[in-house]
Amino acid sequence: MTRARKVRQPREKATRSTGEEPGVFRVAGERGVFVTDDFLVTLSLSLRTLMGSSSAALYGWGIESGKRLVENLRGADAAVASAGPERAVRASLEYLTRSGWGHLEVREIDVANQTVRVESPNLIGIERLAYAENRKPHPSDDFTRGLIAGVASAAFRVEVDAIETSCRANGGEICAFLAARRDVLSKLPAR
Ligand SMILES: [Zn+2]
Repeated sequence: MTRARKVRQPREKATRSTGEEPGVFRVAGERGVFVTDDFLVTLSLSLRTLMGSSSAALYGWGIESGKRLVENLRGADAAVASAGPERAVRASLEYLTRSGWGHLEVREIDVANQTVRVESPNLIGIERLAYAENRKPHPSDDFTRGLIAGVASAAFRVEVDAIETSCRANGGEICAFLAARRDVLSKLPAR
């Protein structure tokens, strides 16, 4: 009995809601939910089963989620709303880091050229795990890639795409992302 309680304790602690409402957890004021990596892998694999390939769907889903995140942060924080695109990008990536997505480090924000470079050593890796099952050596954090593209698009108020220039899924030390307008993306050096 004592043993079982000992094992259960950290889990109960980790998922305990911080507010007054039982079952409600908030991240920076927004209602959130804890899910595991395994849950996200299942979601990713289901998308692939339903759609043939999950990467385009995950990328598109990420873009819309990233745009929405910037809109919500601008709505909730007057300082973000009145500041330029750099503040919006940083606030969004900090939010994602706090949410447990992984440590997202901003390497460069070039407002004039509307480009953003982001790195992460420890993304939760939905797609990484999903692709690993099929042993596909491919940069594969498509949802995160979409999130960064969406965040940059909303921050710069122009449609921006993102590529993953290094990925832990295929031997890279980190996952690195470059977001830029499609017409300039093809002309930029990858790193
Ligand atoms: Zn990656």
